[in-house]
Amino acid sequence: AYKGPTSEEILRKRKEFLSPSMFTFYKKPLNVVHGKMQYLFDENGRRYLDAFGGIATVCCGHCHPDVVKAIVDQTNQLQHSTILYLNHAITDFADALASKLPGDLKVVFFTNSGTEANELAMMMARLYTGCHDIISLRNAYHGNAAGTMGATAQSNWKFNVVQIGVHHAMNPDPYRGIFGSDGEKYAKDIEDLIQFGTSGHVAGFISEAIQGVGGIVELAAGYLPAAYSSVKKAGGLCISDEVQAGFGRTGSHFWGFESHGVVPDIVTMAKGIGNGIPLGAVVTTPKIAEVLTRRSYFNTFGGNPVCTAAGLAVLKVIEREKLQENAHVVGSYLKDRLCALKDKHESIVINFTFSYDSFIGDVRGRGMMLGVELVTDRHLKTPAKTEILHVMDQMKDMGVLIGKGGFFGNVFRITPPLCFTKDDADFLVDVMDYTMSKM
Ligand code: PMP
Repeated sequence: AYKGPTSEEILRKRKEFLSPSMFTFYKKPLNVVHGKMQYLFDENGRRYLDAFGGIATVCCGHCHPDVVKAIVDQTNQLQHSTILYLNHAITDFADALASKLPGDLKVVFFTNSGTEANELAMMMARLYTGCHDIISLRNAYHGNAAGTMGATAQSNWKFNVVQIGVHHAMNPDPYRGIFGSDGEKYAKDIEDLIQFGTSGHVAGFISEAIQGVGGIVELAAGYLPAAYSSVKKAGGLCISDEVQAGFGRTGSHFWGFESHGVVPDIVTMAKGIGNGIPLGAVVTTPKIAEVLTRRSYFNTFGGNPVCTAAGLAVLKVIEREKLQENAHVVGSYLKDRLCALKDKHESIVINFTFSYDSFIGDVRGRGMMLGVELVTDRHLKTPAKTEILHVMDQMKDMGVLIGKGGFFGNVFRITPPLCFTKDDADFLVDVMDYTMSKM
């Protein structure tokens, strides 16, 4: 049984000793003391189904025994910096990771986070092209250091960074965007930006395959191929930020970009790569990787033996336990059930009344990266900002944890560990249904 401090004590210390900017979910924040696969346990031993752990990096499941063993074994053996000496943990994982990527994408730089990976990727694009201008998408999240905060395009996450050489293109958002699902129309904005906002040459373009923090926004079909083509014509490199969509999460493919039929020049990753261990990576071609030989470049702990041993164990678990396939099968089932929830009693919506039936405006995403956007009016798409908090709290009380995001904070983010089962999916939807019908 748990013998640690109470939630109240932890909260008091948090308020006194941790940054005032830190936030918690729920009116009464949850004290999680233990995790096992798709479950989290609080101090009273109460079990919660974790449908948001994926975003907090867990892809194989909390405390997956193989990953834990790899970490413990390597910690007992050696933990050191990545630089200076040889160690096979680093090269073994780089080799295994490179084999998951298409074409010439086979040179790996390890980092400690997604932010660092994107910072490095953007710097490499700038060095390689000799240009400074980077294009990112409105509503994107790419990190919280100076450069990546500039590329991030949501006022919620931006401080007063000096933002030079970044342009934010129109977001190809099928639900709220003005061109609906017509990806090619949105891509024209990239061409406009290049023609009117730059010298005609750019360093690159960075985007997520499905926007995570932005509220699980799938880029409209046809967008990425057209955008990549315009960027390439202007001499730029295309960067795919796979921090959330990578590692089998989208189910149909291992990487999010694959479902768009494009091959990036640089791929960045973090979160799921280490199942909770701080690890990130940039993968690119040998030719692009050359730019870092112009100066000395290193990262003390990026790709250290313990983290890379964990990374290798993660890849093996994904393969052996067929987690990508599970993400596809169970994720598709879950999405179908969420769509059915949305469609329930469609006729009442026509009356424009606020009711449970007009509550779900959109269900989207792929595999185990799903979003449910709550609105108080389906026609006006008015964000249900406060209602979502109520539903989340109630769902927590019934034993289900889900996340939220989107610019207005009105989108449920469902990103469970990839070992989530059909029964888990049923439980989640039943609890959501019950909670909403009580609103
Ligand atoms: N890119 C994306 C798509 C992300 O979602 C995040 C984190 N939410 C990052 C980059 C930054 O990663 P980190 O928090 O590990 O720096």
